Amino acid sequence: MSVNTQYKDTFTSTCCYCGVGCGVVVSKEKNGTVTVEGDKDYSVNKGMLCSKGMNLQYTVNDKRDRLLYPQMRYNKNMPMQRVGWEEALQRTAAVFSTFIKKYGPESVAFYASGQCLTEEYYVINKLIKGFIGSNNIDTNSRLCMSSAVAGYKMALGEDSVPICYDDIELADCFYVTGANPAWCHPILWRRVEAHKATNPDVKIIVVDPRVTDSCAIADLHLQLNPGTDVVLNHAIGRVLIENGDIDLDFVRNHAQGFEQYREVVFQRTLGKSAEICGVSEEDIRLAAKYIGNAKGFISMWTMGLNQSAIGVNKNLSLLNLNLITGHIGKPGSGPFSLTGQPNAMGGREVGGLSNLLAAHRNLNDPAHREEVQKFWGGTAISEKPGLTATEMFEALNDGRLKAIWILCSNPLTSLPNARMAEEGLKKARFVVVQEISNKPETLSYADVILPAAAWTEKEGTMTNSERRITYLNKITDAPGEALPDVEIICRFARKMGYKGFDYASASEIYQEHARLTAGTNIDISGLSYAVLKEKRSVQWPYPSGERAAGTPRLFSDKIFYTPSKKAIIHPVPVDFRSEQPDEDYPLILTTGRIRDQWHTMSKTGKVNKLKKHISQAFLEIHPADAAQLQLTEGEMALISSRRGEVRVKAKVSENIKQGVVFLPMHWGKILGSDLNRANNVTSELLDPVSKEPDFKYCAVRVERYKKP
Ligand code: SF4
Repeated sequence: MSVNTQYKDTFTSTCCYCGVGCGVVVSKEKNGTVTVEGDKDYSVNKGMLCSKGMNLQYTVNDKRDRLLYPQMRYNKNMPMQRVGWEEALQRTAAVFSTFIKKYGPESVAFYASGQCLTEEYYVINKLIKGFIGSNNIDTNSRLCMSSAVAGYKMALGEDSVPICYDDIELADCFYVTGANPAWCHPILWRRVEAHKATNPDVKIIVVDPRVTDSCAIADLHLQLNPGTDVVLNHAIGRVLIENGDIDLDFVRNHAQGFEQYREVVFQRTLGKSAEICGVSEEDIRLAAKYIGNAKGFISMWTMGLNQSAIGVNKNLSLLNLNLITGHIGKPGSGPFSLTGQPNAMGGREVGGLSNLLAAHRNLNDPAHREEVQKFWGGTAISEKPGLTATEMFEALNDGRLKAIWILCSNPLTSLPNARMAEEGLKKARFVVVQEISNKPETLSYADVILPAAAWTEKEGTMTNSERRITYLNKITDAPGEALPDVEIICRFARKMGYKGFDYASASEIYQEHARLTAGTNIDISGLSYAVLKEKRSVQWPYPSGERAAGTPRLFSDKIFYTPSKKAIIHPVPVDFRSEQPDEDYPLILTTGRIRDQWHTMSKTGKVNKLKKHISQAFLEIHPADAAQLQLTEGEMALISSRRGEVRVKAKVSENIKQGVVFLPMHWGKILGSDLNRANNVTSELLDPVSKEPDFKYCAVRVERYKKP
């Protein structure tokens, strides 16, 4: 496939880190180096960038860690050797073909990333679902947004964020739960801060077991016990009903399930709920009062709700607050999941998870499968959902999965119970790693290493948290023999003998994806690279014809995508499924991000400035717990669970609840050793519906570390 190599000196693009999707202007010097600035004309960030975005140029210009050419070994005892693309892809195709023939299509899998561009996601999905005949494609988006996806589908009938960023300035109450946007979605949070600064009556409620920087502007911080979100949301729902602060017209005419919901939220007294959550009754009433008084109410959440063994229930209990108050589909109101990765949304649009189908079609619907199969012209699409992220590594361990192709992700740092994932890769018969950097731990287990082009070295599209699609220019050339991911996948598909992968450009892939969305709820059949280049960005749906305009806000007509066209209020049961503390492991561990690092630090870890804020992994622990363990500030702590150990310095702080400890999720072998990897101890327990892991809750023991 030929790739457009035409470029000019200054380009627009989109930040490749979080789902806020800030616009950037990239200027290329004559010597090929770039500078990156915030795009003043872009609606999302109006020129602002956070610390990570401001330092993007250093990650682009520093190519010392880049993989430059394909490498391969013919057996596990051989060292890796440099080979040509032809040999690497020929051998990979031969091994995949052999496994598929001998063990079936479910013996191979692709593990991708929410950082892949939409076109990359599209061709991988087409390859495995439409031609190999298995649904074994999952991504690290499973680790962050899959509970929100399931929640939206169950409540609204579709995986759809109803809101747009401009609703922030129209809202007068924000319920921020399981999120620290001041650190993790900083530019969006600056808009909330600015709005609050000019409108002091705006109320901000932050729900978090930790005191975070997001609490700095909060009118109310509900420092709940980890895992009690459903109880808290139900308690607030109960007070809203008691106070008559619900939207009766919406509940009667545009929603279903209210009576069952009322029964569930009245099963527990407010006092009992307060006791379970570890917050006061007065504070629950105050939160309900703020929400009840609001003309515009936005609920905002991310990993604290999603990364849980009851993540879908937590999502549904939160969506209920918007539904019973009718705060959806109108200016300044709506549920708003903050997407962790830059293109997790785009990945979902093409069906980039093992239980999804292209254009938000349903994998379990035979008509939908047939429609997509006919469009692609390949093999019958399997009705059986594929393996999810953690399940893939379990399947490598028990031998069901023979080969895995990992691209744009570092699962040995980011997956829960990392030792299990490591064992899986050790046992894998064949591992392909498609990567830009020579740092990720996965490379030591690879049989084939394929060097990929990075951000600015390829063109494509991404969708941010408000359904806003942007076009990313190709600005610089990839080093060595590295290739754009779409080109690698398409070359491989052709080696496998599959038709339909001979695109002349990334634009052609996008056109095909856009055509496949026609008539669906996420119809973007009116879009093309030409439209995106002209308009800079648009929000889906964007159908062709007269309706082509983009859609800032969904459900303004109060018609939902459910069979009844009504939103569904779910009477969510209260259920605690997480690993509970006991005598051996008496503390609750929760994990999360820090301000200046991104995921497993393969990019942000290259920038010294970004290490100044926090340079080392640490254990945050309450003074009372630390005193009991005779652990002092800066001392080395040993954190153990039933799965493994972590050794990091203690940070004694009143910002965390007693009985709870916190580890940042970024560290692993890339910057340090696997002894500071939080996921040595986390649990691989999954939400039964979304299959998202329980990163925010497991039982651990903490001790002073004594050198042997
Ligand atoms: Fe990039 Fe997110 Fe920071 Fe914006 S807020 S600059 S998208 S990391």
